[in-house]
Amino acid sequence: MDAFVWDQNFVTGLPEVDEQHHKLVDLFNEFNNSLFSTRTDQEQDAVLSDTFARILDYTRYHFQDEESLMRTEGVDSRHANMHHLAHEHFVEQLQAMWERRHTMPQPGESLVNFLTSWLGLHILGIDQSLARQIQLIHNGAGPAEAFEQEDQALDNGMQAVLKLIANLYRLLSQQNMALVQANQALEARVAQRTVQLETANERLQQAYVQLEAYSRIDGLLKIANRQYFDVRLKEAWASALRRQQPLGLLMIDVDFFKRYNDSYGHQAGDTCLQTVAQAVQGALLRETDLVARYGGEELVVILPDTDAAGTLAVAERVVAAVAAQAIPHRASDAAPVVTVSVGAASCQPTDMQDGLGLVAQADAALYAAKKSGRNRSVLSDV
Ligand code: GH3
Ligand code: MG
Ligand code: MG
Repeated sequence: MDAFVWDQNFVTGLPEVDEQHHKLVDLFNEFNNSLFSTRTDQEQDAVLSDTFARILDYTRYHFQDEESLMRTEGVDSRHANMHHLAHEHFVEQLQAMWERRHTMPQPGESLVNFLTSWLGLHILGIDQSLARQIQLIHNGAGPAEAFEQEDQALDNGMQAVLKLIANLYRLLSQQNMALVQANQALEARVAQRTVQLETANERLQQAYVQLEAYSRIDGLLKIANRQYFDVRLKEAWASALRRQQPLGLLMIDVDFFKRYNDSYGHQAGDTCLQTVAQAVQGALLRETDLVARYGGEELVVILPDTDAAGTLAVAERVVAAVAAQAIPHRASDAAPVVTVSVGAASCQPTDMQDGLGLVAQADAALYAAKKSGRNRSVLSDV
């Protein structure tokens, strides 16, 4: 079914113009017919896009041709300007509607209606007026005279109605443009909000990661904290039990650390603890070994798959590594530098006990190390 039915009223008598109008009407009808062909939405959009592009191209070509005809025929510039504006406006509207088609309830139908009503109105009004002016010029009238005669013909009822409809069209198209702009602004705002939301999500994600890390890591020493140690000790105990492997543990305590604080200040004490923690970490060779802050200036080390001899060997490395930092400690009775005492213990886990027993053994050994002069390690003999 054709959307635009051609009749004699649309003939201007200008052969090229009429021919081009015909061609436009054919394109409109083609556009209309492809709306009703049964295809998928995607295919239909592709076909419509193609037809639309041809309509736009041909419209531009036709407008240029008509405008050059006005110049060759010497039509009054008042008419030529008005006519050019109408063309320009139409192209703008057409593009705006096309861009907005996905937000319109029935884009195809709306476009066809717009195309056909606009062309019909344009031919009946301004194009017929152009044809009459050219006729008058051919009959010997001056362009201005021809234009003014046309203007006076406005008392003609048909012309008056056309002018009213043209005004109505202008009003509607202004609203359409406003809608397009509002729509674009809205899309921009949505896009901006989406970006903001994504950024917020990313920050939240980072905060979660940090929070998780904080809950495992001691803020000052940047090694595992007490809570994480408790979890890892349980796991290590269960794993050693399952695999029938020994589990070693070290309790480490800085010697005369209260005096260190008193002598050098609390802040120097913090820095000293950080150095000690790094030295202990450096003395561990296996990926699976874990050093944690047990509390205050006490550190603890879990040594999976390590028997008594191995555990003592690590304990001795720890003592040596801390002393090797050579942090001056003028108030220590153990050495002129900061030292640690280490209690070591290792056992074959059974399901009758848990890791806490091993901690108690290491603690007792630490006490023995302190008692026997500090700056040394003692292996639990339990
Ligand atoms: P000992 O050789 O018998 O272990 O003597 P000590 O002075 O190290 O023993 P004590 O346990 O009495 O003192 C530990 C001190 O460690 C007390 C406390 O102020 C200090 N301390 C604990 N945690 C921190 C910390 O995070 N930073 C600093 N600067 N000092 C700490
Ligand atoms: Mg202590
Ligand atoms: Mg101490």
